[in-house]
Amino acid sequence: LASRTFNPVSTIVDVDGVSVGGKNIVIMAGPCAVESKEQLFESAEAVKKFGAKFLRGGAYKPRTSPYSFQGLEKEGLEMLYEAKKYTGLKIVTEVMDIHSIEIVSKYADVLQIGARNMQNFSLLKEVGRSNRPVLLKRGIAATIEEWLNAAEYILSEGNKNVILCERGIRTFEQYTRNTLDLSAVPVIKKLSHLPIIVDPSHGTGKSFLVSPMAKAAIAAGADGLIIEVHPDPKNALSDGAQSLTPKEFEVLTKEISKVANAV
Ligand code: PEP
Ligand code: MN
Repeated sequence: LASRTFNPVSTIVDVDGVSVGGKNIVIMAGPCAVESKEQLFESAEAVKKFGAKFLRGGAYKPRTSPYSFQGLEKEGLEMLYEAKKYTGLKIVTEVMDIHSIEIVSKYADVLQIGARNMQNFSLLKEVGRSNRPVLLKRGIAATIEEWLNAAEYILSEGNKNVILCERGIRTFEQYTRNTLDLSAVPVIKKLSHLPIIVDPSHGTGKSFLVSPMAKAAIAAGADGLIIEVHPDPKNALSDGAQSLTPKEFEVLTKEISKVANAV
């Protein structure tokens, strides 16, 4: 179902009036985690002002250490919903397990499946039965074939609204957090009709690399970007090192439009 031979026409996922896929580049942006109402609203206003159509922000965080900030959970979802009402931005947020699908679906427009859950098959099946579009991140060590099979799990349950997200894979390179596999973009375009966006924030782990890789992603044919933006990256509770300030995000969006017009 995910393959281009099955469906030669590129899929455009309609998120309540906003298209992912097709001619326009879509930008999703916001903090790694929802930390407070102030932090979220400041981020939301900034990303909206500079052209994002989606606000991202984790309420349930899959942290490597159990002692790290785990997210505000339901309270975080409520803040996201308020930010949506205030700005009109669509909300994309992670759902970590089958038990929270129902509550996350109440507040979010798009359900994010994180890299660590890309092969959580029961979770994939269950979001496949939901009526919310799904953002499926590539697993940390997943081949493109495994990733497309994960999409297949969702599609085969009836949910046709799957957006793929390249977010870097683990290689021997230590300088960057992950190795952003931009060749995955044209490969996915060849093998699948599904839209693909790129996450240069998790893909590199370093804020100075976000803009160059975002531009490269658009040049490679990506349908959009998901970018971490924080009003005060130094004091972020998660992923500060890879988060852009609102000012840096503004500069990036201007450069992105130039690249998008050129390709
Ligand atoms: C995130 O988007 O904040 C996140 C945890 O991403 P990933 O699953 O790609 O690591
Ligand atoms: Mn993050």
